[in-house]
Amino acid sequence: MSLTISGNCLCGKIRYDVSGPPITRVICHCDNCRRSTGSAFMANNFYKKNQLQIHNSEGALLRTYLDGQTDSKHTVKRSFCGNCGSHLFITNDSDPMLADAVIVTTGTMDRHQLQSTGDGGWAPEQEFFCKRRAKWIPEFDGTKKCDAMK
Ligand SMILES: [Zn+2]
Ligand SMILES: [Zn+2]
Repeated sequence: MSLTISGNCLCGKIRYDVSGPPITRVICHCDNCRRSTGSAFMANNFYKKNQLQIHNSEGALLRTYLDGQTDSKHTVKRSFCGNCGSHLFITNDSDPMLADAVIVTTGTMDRHQLQSTGDGGWAPEQEFFCKRRAKWIPEFDGTKKCDAMK
């Protein structure tokens, strides 16, 4: 992966950069990620919080939904653009394993950066909540498959 990746929400009012390699790259099949994306699964990069820089030109535009109905019983903070609704970041301060982490949605990252890494581009390393995977989705090659989050 290239060292700095830029991304933005659909309307472009919230932009961000992440620098350095991600801690991990994950596909999540859980019900909450499916609903919040409106898609079949969610693709994320995990970073340390200090790797993320948010450029929010309109102040309070970034809104946060406290998602307390999770399988892990931790309250997950899902942040999205208050203008266009793109789901951008997730934090989970109540889980000691993730207190220093921020999860960034891969779908909001610049496509050319994801594709131009020279090693085939972005690919997931892990899949979470495989027990919730839609049956029509083929298994991804080379991922560590977890029934829940580990
Ligand atoms: Zn937006
Ligand atoms: Zn999930």
